[in-house]
Amino acid sequence: MTNPVFSYELFPPRTQLGERRFWRTVGRLEAQEAAFFSITYGALGSAQSQSVETVEFAAKECETPIAAHLTFEGSTKDEINAVATRYRDAGVDRIVALRGDAREESELASKRGECYKSVPEFISGLLEIHPFDISVACYPDGHPKASNPKADLLALKEKLDAGANRAISQFFFDADDYQRFRDQAGAIGITAPIVAGVLPIRDFNKVASFAEKCGTRVPQSLIDMFAPIADDRDAMAKMSQHQLDAFIDRLIDKDCRHFHIYTLNQMVNVKRCSQKQMSNSVMPLELSA
Ligand SMILES: Cc1cc2nc3c(=O)[nH]c(=O)nc-3n(C[C@H](O)[C@H](O)[C@H](O)COP(=O)(O)OP(=O)(O)OC[C@H]3O[C@@H](n4cnc5c(N)ncnc54)[C@H](O)[C@@H]3O)c2cc1C
Repeated sequence: MTNPVFSYELFPPRTQLGERRFWRTVGRLEAQEAAFFSITYGALGSAQSQSVETVEFAAKECETPIAAHLTFEGSTKDEINAVATRYRDAGVDRIVALRGDAREESELASKRGECYKSVPEFISGLLEIHPFDISVACYPDGHPKASNPKADLLALKEKLDAGANRAISQFFFDADDYQRFRDQAGAIGITAPIVAGVLPIRDFNKVASFAEKCGTRVPQSLIDMFAPIADDRDAMAKMSQHQLDAFIDRLIDKDCRHFHIYTLNQMVNVKRCSQKQMSNSVMPLELSA
């Protein structure tokens, strides 16, 4: 049985205080031997230019490989290809290739020039620039705009068939949902790893609101666990770590071996997770299932 692999998602800081927190967290996460740090692109209110600067700087400063998120909605092919080329030149070999949600900007972009229409087409364009290692997004609880779960899975297969190496999931809270999704993916011929996206629950009200926007189901057991202590910081911190440890253990029992932690730029301690399966060293990504 291979050891679990962890990667960590961060967003580009927008303020001086945020910047200090970002780099402090990165420094502490580097001690956790991560497979990669991924840096979002224009998400959570940050500008795309901040993402580019942060990725280039992190690629120079970090020992851990950097995976740069890129969304094509709202950009022309030339614009987004130019960013991918900058990343290649900065030594960034990993891209998380995404559609993004900038629909209004997409109309403006299409007036400026030719645009990518789908993630598979985007992946082909990226692979012409460089043999990037490519991750794509998937949605165990369904994408809010997908017509049905089967269509969602077929869309995922097309992205992997276009050359993506793995799928990183939207956050979810039920390990059975992960198993069901992975089994359904397997049934339509998806063999690439499905990485479990894990969101630590630090602020329950915020997490519940994120979940509603993303279409993630919050099980009643979690509501019962967190809602009564939502305003008690100490109790929340303890319960959050307990829930994270237990959730990762449950996913390991379902044969999940790669966890992508949505850090929201805060330190996440996974060393104490799953000690029964984990040794001190973490398996390189390439060897993980
Ligand atoms: C791991 C991860 C990282 C992310 N990082 C970022 C980031 O850095 N920046 C950012 O802006 N966003 C980010 N997102 C959010 C993502 O851009 C949105 O979820 C977007 O709506 C879909 O992107 P996709 O690449 O999954 O697109 P797709 O693969 O095209 O769509 C996924 C599924 O949703 C369906 N779908 C999507 N849009 C529509 C639509 N308009 N109508 C009908 N069906 C639709 C597709 O058919 C498919 O089933 C991330 C999401 C995940 C899971």
